[in-house]
Amino acid sequence: MSLYFVGAGPGDPKLLTLKAYELLQSCDLCLWAGSLINPDILKAVSTQATIVDSAPLDLNEIVDLMEKFYREGKKVVRLHTGDPSIYGAIAEQMTLLDEKEIPYEVVPGVSSFQASAAALKMELTLPEVTQTVILSRVEGATPVPDYQSLEVLAQSRSTLCLFLSVSKIEEISKRLAPFYGEDCPIAVVYKASWPDQVILRGTFQTIASKIAEQKISKTAMIVVGPAITRQGGKLSKLYDPKFTHEFREGKNS
Ligand code: SAH
Repeated sequence: MSLYFVGAGPGDPKLLTLKAYELLQSCDLCLWAGSLINPDILKAVSTQATIVDSAPLDLNEIVDLMEKFYREGKKVVRLHTGDPSIYGAIAEQMTLLDEKEIPYEVVPGVSSFQASAAALKMELTLPEVTQTVILSRVEGATPVPDYQSLEVLAQSRSTLCLFLSVSKIEEISKRLAPFYGEDCPIAVVYKASWPDQVILRGTFQTIASKIAEQKISKTAMIVVGPAITRQGGKLSKLYDPKFTHEFREGKNS
């Protein structure tokens, strides 16, 4: 196998997987999504390799370039921010490669929603408050199906992580408040895991003005839900002293 879709992680080069790091060191072509990936990550790429920013290229140009190197027997890394399976537009690239019968492998990466949860020091699945995490976005250039509107998703009061949506924070706050309640915590993490990471916490009333003050309009994750402040969280069964499970006998007292 010599063509790899690789997750670059959220920004901090130390959050690359070992597999991603080794592939970057040994590839001949590194085709990277320049608008979001921390350029420091490219330091891992060999000086012999060709590095191309895919930002100005269209789908066919991207696939043609990968095909050219592949046919020459070279190792190709197609580097995507975070995890490639989330808003990575990899499906369309893989479909074209399938048509050309070019094999490839996908190497997962740490997603920005995970880096944001780490920055917020929160458990996304807080016992007895939420056992569900929703990854979504509001409509931008790409439409969202009606049956996945914010109003539909919010009914479950899951921990909600919104990608690609921070520029619409005011509208989002208004739409979510009736479902989560006015006091529900909401947070925005700008550039999670980068040196200039910013964390903003607030409520539906306050968050938009905090974001405007910091002039944040992209590369930010919106996280919504009571799990952010651990409101109403119960202890897990896993570490409950009285609870017996496969690996530990519960104590009776
Ligand atoms: N595949 C990526 C997401 C790509 S879509 C992943 O798994 O993270 C791009 C969106 O991801 C941005 O608009 C922003 O919402 C989010 N994002 C990417 N990197 C981020 C980071 N370091 N901090 C916060 N949000 C980030």
